Amino acid sequence: MSTIIDVENTYTSGVYGKRPVAIVRGKGALLWDAEGREYIDCAAGHGVANIGHGRPEIAAALAAQAQRLITCPEIVYNDVRAQLLQRLIEITPEGLTHAFLCNSGTEAVEGALKFARLATGRTGIVATLRGFHGRSMGALSTTWEKSYREPFAPLIPDVKHIRYNDLAAAEAAITEQTAAIIIELVQAEGGVHVPQADYLAGLAALCRERGALLIVDEIQTGFGRTGALFACNHYNLQPDILCLAKSLAGGVPMGAICLGQRVMESGRITKGAHGSTFGGNPLACAASLATIDIFEREQLAPRAAALSTQVFERLRSWRSPLIREVRGQGLLIGIELTKRVQPYLEALCERGVLALPAGPTVLRLLPPLVISEEQINRALDIVADVLGIQETVETTQIDNPESESITPEVALLQSMLTISSLSGQEHSLAHYLAEQARSMGLHASVDEVGNFVASTHEDSTNTQPVVLLGHMDTVPGNIPVRIENGILHGRGAVDAKGPLAAFICATARLAQHGLPERPVVVVGAVEEEAATSKGARGVVNRYQPSACIIGEPSSSEGVTIGYKGRLLVEGCVSLPSSHSAGPERSSNEIAAHFWEQVRQHAATWNAEHAGNSAFASLQPSLRSINSTQDGMENQTHFLIGYRLPPGIEIAELRHQLQAWAYADEITLTIYGEEQPFQSNRSTPVARAFMKAIRGTGGKVTFKNKTGTSDMNVVGPVWGENIVAYGPGDSRLDHTPEEQISVAEYTHAIEVLEVVLSELTAQREITL
Ligand SMILES: *Cc1c(COP(=O)(O)O)cnc(C)c1O
Repeated sequence: MSTIIDVENTYTSGVYGKRPVAIVRGKGALLWDAEGREYIDCAAGHGVANIGHGRPEIAAALAAQAQRLITCPEIVYNDVRAQLLQRLIEITPEGLTHAFLCNSGTEAVEGALKFARLATGRTGIVATLRGFHGRSMGALSTTWEKSYREPFAPLIPDVKHIRYNDLAAAEAAITEQTAAIIIELVQAEGGVHVPQADYLAGLAALCRERGALLIVDEIQTGFGRTGALFACNHYNLQPDILCLAKSLAGGVPMGAICLGQRVMESGRITKGAHGSTFGGNPLACAASLATIDIFEREQLAPRAAALSTQVFERLRSWRSPLIREVRGQGLLIGIELTKRVQPYLEALCERGVLALPAGPTVLRLLPPLVISEEQINRALDIVADVLGIQETVETTQIDNPESESITPEVALLQSMLTISSLSGQEHSLAHYLAEQARSMGLHASVDEVGNFVASTHEDSTNTQPVVLLGHMDTVPGNIPVRIENGILHGRGAVDAKGPLAAFICATARLAQHGLPERPVVVVGAVEEEAATSKGARGVVNRYQPSACIIGEPSSSEGVTIGYKGRLLVEGCVSLPSSHSAGPERSSNEIAAHFWEQVRQHAATWNAEHAGNSAFASLQPSLRSINSTQDGMENQTHFLIGYRLPPGIEIAELRHQLQAWAYADEITLTIYGEEQPFQSNRSTPVARAFMKAIRGTGGKVTFKNKTGTSDMNVVGPVWGENIVAYGPGDSRLDHTPEEQISVAEYTHAIEVLEVVLSELTAQREITL
């Protein structure tokens, strides 16, 4: 660590006062230094890390966007930028209709001042005592702190500072020459001062009356910090210009200036008025979109509000001559001391809490909004201790036995569950997995159909590898990701991110013991759930595997050797309208007759072939039937889904269906055909599983499934040395209770590691 500090001290400009700590890593509200010491982060990068550190969603969004397009100045349009502009206007306070994108808070303020002068044709700017708005010449002119401003005089002319929360002062200062007043909604750097609601309402009215604009600087208070997405929301305040930055893009540098009607209607914000090379770059826009998703999904603003109530209740119970006042809103927390704060900040740092000052005597706590109750209580314990507070109230210590036992392998699956990946939208997850697989020592990339592909060897296409084919996509329906009592909850835990994560971990473990003789390829396919099977179809002709394992839940002691096939039959009967009392059959009766023939045929087939076995039986189901009449025509539409057993002649079945349809003038569409596929328990891969599961003390069950999987797609081409395997209870597929036992997931990785070392040891093909 000392070398990092020495090198920085040698080459840095020297404008920053730093604590003697070199931070190298972060996760959530925790940070670690180069020596592995843990810190609770109560600074959050001055409010940049509201969503916490090390977020896989941001890493995935950045990785995916970096592969597509990083830079794209605003001489042309861009898809990601268009999306972000729209999202920003949707989530920011009412009345803001347009936005200019830039790269920092200072730039947002600088642009806001320019737009205000341009839109009003006036020069006067009013700012507030203790306000902080940044350090470039324009922004600095509005910042209050003398030591920041004076060395750089003369600054821009026509800027006045008035008392905050003082409406009379504003009435005196805002005139017909005033372009704008700029305020923070909680003065953060200046000591954590909260505004009065009537002050803000009065100020907004005053601005409107005098033709001046209201610029609200929410660079620090925005994005959930005060317990609302924007502090404006607490007061129903509609600024004319809103400045955003800090948490806007989850840690990536970005700023935004949102503009309201009064600015736009001036007609003066025209081409060439302002600009920025990096402004609105797709990389920052992608990070920002992912950040906004997180705010919505995890409801971080209400979370901050709830935690805030507990924190302030505790702080306000502290009695000490050292504490003058406790102030703040949400998780923007200020403790004003009667002494200088600097020595206490140093003591906190030594005790593992990173906190901030706000002026010379205020201790400011600005934790990530994802901080756990346990972590913030631990931080407050240390603050109390350092300030010498004797606490009178018992604090609730929630112990969380899970938190210390999360292994990197469990963390991988947990992160995968937080990245949404519906069919056709697996992009972010694919890039995230490629990145993770590389960090685990595998070769990894995203292929041309969008599949994630990782391999022990650089090139595996011509070598008859062992292929582990899982899938990335899940069905819709968000399930909050959490670990409780050894159970990991989340959409995809079972189907099929659990099996896919186990594939990646087992392959990485294998590779760590040296390169196996035969390569192992892990594929995370796209669109398995979509019935198009695009991912599996993309790889079926690329590899000639010696063995294949499909990633589907079978429980860690179960092995699936067969899947039924599928056929979908859509029919339509149209008849000219006639009186229902007439002798002719209606379209509904014709459709019902068709269904009756289908049922009879299946019953006969089953009596001859299947007996009572569900797997061996032909199972039609009437999925929908509905009719319409418009006075001209009566129509009946129906959809029948078949589960096809092994041994069924699909061509014959199609032929029979068409013949019935022809006789009754039904229009038929037959699609979604998947052949059934069944292997057996004496293949090398099945035997390897038997041995491995028994070796770990388990009892093997072989299963046949009545649904379909990618085995139906690749099995007919790759042959019978194939099984499906993965942790999880497949009855939880597609349910709101989707969850996986951490112990079972870990067991599956052990089993797979043994199976892979067995299958890769032989150079010769064993079939
Ligand atoms: C941090 C901050 C700024 C300056 O933002 P930078 O990104 O550091 O340029 C401006 N205004 C407020 C209220 C801030 O907290």
